[in-house]
Amino acid sequence: MRFDIITIFPEMFATVFSGGVVRKAVEKGLIRVNVHNLRDFTTDKHRQVDDRPFGGDEGMVMKPEPIFAAVESLRGGSDDPAFLLSPQGRRFDHRLARELARHPRIILICGRYEGVDERVSRFLAAEELSIGDYVLTGGEPAAVVVVDAVSRFIPGVVGKEGSVAQDSFSRGILDFPHYTRPREFRGMKAPQVLFSGDHGKISAWRRKKALEKTSLMRPDLMEGADLSPEDKRLLEQTTAPGKERKSS
Ligand code: SAM
Repeated sequence: MRFDIITIFPEMFATVFSGGVVRKAVEKGLIRVNVHNLRDFTTDKHRQVDDRPFGGDEGMVMKPEPIFAAVESLRGGSDDPAFLLSPQGRRFDHRLARELARHPRIILICGRYEGVDERVSRFLAAEELSIGDYVLTGGEPAAVVVVDAVSRFIPGVVGKEGSVAQDSFSRGILDFPHYTRPREFRGMKAPQVLFSGDHGKISAWRRKKALEKTSLMRPDLMEGADLSPEDKRLLEQTTAPGKERKSS
């Protein structure tokens, strides 16, 4: 899969994809991340990408011409979708990340200033994407979030495919708690069941803990979760929510 990011700050991406899973995916040729300087698509000598808002107001607005030129040049006649990062967009979540991973290529447009001329979202972008209900100073951090989360759905990017399937949201609920060595740390013990060697018991415990944590942290997810009769039974055994005791 290929990601094309359009930005006025290409240098912001220099290090962010130079480590970890995304870097390995690039090295393996599973994904490509190309960053384009919006100013390269301007035609005036000042390489201007913004202008004052019609109707008067504070701040500047990103001009449509360089953005249309950049997207059209990158598309080169293809119908690859372009997405405008915007706090007003469709909420970017697990399901949307998986959906976007089905495209061979997506183009991400990073806004700045007071935002982007509305004609970009109305006539050029397939959709506006928001990474949450808060306002960033620019679309670049949002583009990084989208590339990272979408990449995880490209086969081979995450080492063990299984770990994507059990991650939070994959099965409608949050992930179960993880523990590693040491078995006891400052008096805090890892749960005994994990040393039982009984895989049936371990999976039941993990499912129960995932259900408990979801109902505590994200009750909204429980409403849409597909719960089996066994899940309901496990939930009934759930103790009052609170911090696990050190010895449990
Ligand atoms: N005036 C705009 C508004 O209130 O809707 C906010 C503009 S914001 C300061 C500048 C740019 O940051 C936006 O054009 C967008 O590209 C990006 N941005 C800000 N918040 C975002 C979010 N939650 N998700 C995605 N992009 C965001």
